[in-house]
Amino acid sequence: MRAMVLHQAKKPLVLEDRPVPSPGDGQVLIRVEASGVCRTDLHIADGELSPPRLPLVLGHQIVGRVEALGPGVSSRRVGERVGVGWLGWTCGECKHCRRGEENLCVNAQFTGFHLDGGFAEYTVAFADYTYPLPEGGEAVDMAPWMCAGLTGFRSYRFVRDKSLIGFYGFGSAAHLIAQVARFEGKRFYAFVRPGDEAAKAFAMQMGAEWAGDSTQAPPEPMEGAIIFAPVGDLIPQALSHLEPGGTLVLGGIYMSPVPQMPYALLWRERTIRSVANLTREDARGFLQLAPKIPVRAQVETYPLEAANEALEALRRGRAQGSIVLVP
Ligand SMILES: [Zn+2]
Ligand SMILES: [Zn+2]
Repeated sequence: MRAMVLHQAKKPLVLEDRPVPSPGDGQVLIRVEASGVCRTDLHIADGELSPPRLPLVLGHQIVGRVEALGPGVSSRRVGERVGVGWLGWTCGECKHCRRGEENLCVNAQFTGFHLDGGFAEYTVAFADYTYPLPEGGEAVDMAPWMCAGLTGFRSYRFVRDKSLIGFYGFGSAAHLIAQVARFEGKRFYAFVRPGDEAAKAFAMQMGAEWAGDSTQAPPEPMEGAIIFAPVGDLIPQALSHLEPGGTLVLGGIYMSPVPQMPYALLWRERTIRSVANLTREDARGFLQLAPKIPVRAQVETYPLEAANEALEALRRGRAQGSIVLVP
């Protein structure tokens, strides 16, 4: 099979011919139909996050068909369409797993980080961490659901009781979660890189009530906000536009340093919380809703071999919506 492989951070991925992997105990072999490109893939490729091993196949927003079952798998069938996300495996035994916090599992294995991911024609995944997807519909349209949607939904859950929400960074995750928010009757504002008029127009087209530069004040203070952009400087800015009692959610796995700020920004019971990974419950929550709404990703596709160009488009903030590789 063909795979785009990371050998060294800050170096381009390398196109390789590899044997098709065989599914181990509890795993399925998946023929990849589409594989989304996430900012986390970019953080790994750029050396901001260090994976436990190299070489590595990135990609944790996989849509494909089950091609073969490994030993002991009865929950999936050959030919079934499934999705695979970031949460690749958890131990079920550690303190966090036993508390139902599998997103914090100390032994967790993440797809495209510990485990080879989806920037390839085939991949293997643990069957219990795959999700059945609708048979109808295009694989490329569902690939962004698998991280932007799933982990974005976990972030959203922490502001789900709010009626006016801000999204800082209006990329892959925000444009999907905005559709859920709108479906649930919420109003939202979008904050984008200063001067990015195309991103503002995109956010307005997706239902934002107002879209502005991240340095601007919104028309009204907000009850909640999610920062999807990996920019620590946004924390005091977002807090300064939150109502007392408001919640600020940090939705990314990586962020530039958080600046010092006056306590007054936080006082009056404002809350800041980070979000780490996701649980399968988050995934089920999003995947029940998404086809009903329906959540539609705006997608730019690249052939698998152009994974480096796709990463560059994300690095430059050139894409509107989500970027997906097609083998
Ligand atoms: Zn665990
Ligand atoms: Zn991701």
